[in-house]
Amino acid sequence: MSHLDIEQPLFPDTRPHIWIQWKGTRVCCDVRCTCGCLWHYDGGFFYFFQCPRCEKYWEVGTHMPVYEATKEEAEPCVKHLQTP
Ligand SMILES: [Zn+2]
Repeated sequence: MSHLDIEQPLFPDTRPHIWIQWKGTRVCCDVRCTCGCLWHYDGGFFYFFQCPRCEKYWEVGTHMPVYEATKEEAEPCVKHLQTP
């Protein structure tokens, strides 16, 4: 089963979201496993990981929700995209 089998029903075209093409860049994130383990990762190439407690393997997803923001919230670092 691919992560897309799980993500695509959660992110239909009617729900605002982005699709990420990971390019091996650095990431800093908090990670929670189904076993309840919560840990922090700061590094690169975060495509797959193994839980340090239960040793289950996970694949990092490629869809992420987006939330409408005000101009004031976005202004410091907004990216102006081109119309497709
Ligand atoms: Zn775990």
